[in-house]
Amino acid sequence: MSIAISPEVAERLRGFEAPERLGFGSVMAPVMFRAVYQDGCWSGGELIPYGPLQIDPAAKVLHYAQTCFEGMKAYRRVDGSIGLFRPEKNARRMAYSARRLCMPEIPEGMFLEAVRCVTAYCAYLIPAASGESLYLRPLLIGTQPDLSVSASNIYEFYVIASPSEAYHSGNMRVWIERDDTRAALGGTGDAKVGGNYAASLQSVAQLKARGYDQSLWLSPSDRKQIEELSGMNFFAVIDGQLHTPKLSGSILEGVTRDSLIELAGTLGYRVHEREMDIDDLLALIGSGTCSEAFACGTAAIISPISVIGDAGHSVSLPQVPGPVSTALRSALLDIQEGRAEDPFGWMQQVEPASP
Ligand SMILES: *Cc1c(COP(=O)(O)O)cnc(C)c1O
Repeated sequence: MSIAISPEVAERLRGFEAPERLGFGSVMAPVMFRAVYQDGCWSGGELIPYGPLQIDPAAKVLHYAQTCFEGMKAYRRVDGSIGLFRPEKNARRMAYSARRLCMPEIPEGMFLEAVRCVTAYCAYLIPAASGESLYLRPLLIGTQPDLSVSASNIYEFYVIASPSEAYHSGNMRVWIERDDTRAALGGTGDAKVGGNYAASLQSVAQLKARGYDQSLWLSPSDRKQIEELSGMNFFAVIDGQLHTPKLSGSILEGVTRDSLIELAGTLGYRVHEREMDIDDLLALIGSGTCSEAFACGTAAIISPISVIGDAGHSVSLPQVPGPVSTALRSALLDIQEGRAEDPFGWMQQVEPASP
């Protein structure tokens, strides 16, 4: 595939002025990738100025949530080069999410080219301080204007980007959600689709009123096993070893989760992927056997958990951030930012483009 570069791109890139404070995911790069699927095939993609979409109010995505997305980062590395972190994992996950919602897969080659193209043209926008990055958001929507409940026959694929500061979630207070679930058995919990997040918002709104930051979701069948947070996977350090819920079908398989499992092995930590009963974990924290808990995802990498709140009583973690979370976070960021060897071949270099 060759990507058509719109003639306005050069001017948009030249005219862009980043504000003093970037925040995370709030400043959008001035260009975006777009491709359209119609009559059973994808158009050639194009790099165009960033801007609002024209969308028919009857578009299926607006009614039936035929939409999935990805979240990934490009880093400016210490030698000045630009590196994408495991983009093929995001390509494959997006293909999985698309299939689950009866949407056409984005061919892996097109996904990777689109992400590389946006990264290349936005390279000069990538901030250089440790933890800063270009956050990339691929997005697929079904846009056929038709109110019948069936799969759309027209789709649009976008890649937008946001030059971002480090995502500081601080130490998180999480609340055990014992009533709602974010994902059903046999539902879409293991796909990165918009509906999962809509389903999580009520719980988060309620716990914020109680002074908490995030919901800790439990197994939808019996509300006994820990699953994850609304956009991050869960780990605990028990007796110096790492424990994380094994994939259940309703847990989203995070790229960060997968990377930490691999990395932990090389740092000498044993990792257990298993069913994690929430009440057992509370007891292990109470007795001091569980010394750390944290959430992980692309945005924050690792967010230490300070308190786990429950209707009956709440427990506090003794070390926030603890030594294991701190070591894992630095080890991963060192690979991403080029301070350490990349024994897994996770980083893919992107040559900056000049418009
Ligand atoms: C995106 C996401 C994660 C984290 O995935 P990463 O690939 O590590 O960013 C975890 N849980 C949910 C529900 C998510 O949407």
